[in-house]
Amino acid sequence: MEATDVFPAADRMIDAGGLTLLPGGVDPHVHIRYPGGAHRETFVTGTAATAAGGVTTIIEHPISTPPQYSPETLAPRVAAVGEQAIVDVAFLGAAGGKHIEEIGRVAEAGVWGYKTFLHAAPEGREKEFAGLTSETNYELLKVMEEVKKTGLPMRRTGKTTTSSRERSPSCAGRGASPRSITLPHVQPSLKRWRWTGSFASPRL
Ligand SMILES: [Zn+2]
Repeated sequence: MEATDVFPAADRMIDAGGLTLLPGGVDPHVHIRYPGGAHRETFVTGTAATAAGGVTTIIEHPISTPPQYSPETLAPRVAAVGEQAIVDVAFLGAAGGKHIEEIGRVAEAGVWGYKTFLHAAPEGREKEFAGLTSETNYELLKVMEEVKKTGLPMRRTGKTTTSSRERSPSCAGRGASPRSITLPHVQPSLKRWRWTGSFASPRL
C-alpha cells in the first residue's frame, strides 16, 4: 500500500534526506500560568521554548490568576492561547472543594482532565489556587464524585508547602522533605479512588 492511499497528499514536501525524523513530543505537565505571572512567562515565550525543544503539544495545568475552575475562568486563558501560542495547548481544569458545582461545567467547556491539590493555598498565593484545593477528606470525596461523572482523569498533588508542614506536627516529626510529603488528614489513597470510581492519572 502506498502512503498516499492512507494519507491525503501533502501541500508541501521537505527533503529530509540524511536527517532523523522524530514525531512531535507531548509535555503533559506545564505551568505557563499566563495571565498570572506574566512577568515570568506568557504563551508566546513558553510555547516558543516548547517548540525549540521538539514538543508540539502541551497540557497546561491550572495555576493562574485565576486558575481555570469554571468556563468563565477558562475563557481568557483559551483566548490567550489563540493569540499567543505556536504549539497545541490543552488545559486541565481546577477541581476543588470550594467550587464543586463548576467541575462539570468546566468539562463541558473543553478541559482534558482535572487537577486538585491536597493542601491549602500557599500563603500569599490564594488567588492562584482558587477552586483548586481539596483540603479535607470530605472535600476530596465530593470532588472525586463530580470528576467521576465527567469521565475525565484527575491528577492530585500531595506536595505540601513549608507553611503547611509547620502546621502539621506529625508530618514534621517524620523528618520528610516538605516537598515530598502529604498532609496526614488528606491522604491520596488508592482505596478512595476505587471507592468513588474516579480515575487517578499518574501521566498528567
Ligand atoms: Zn505542576
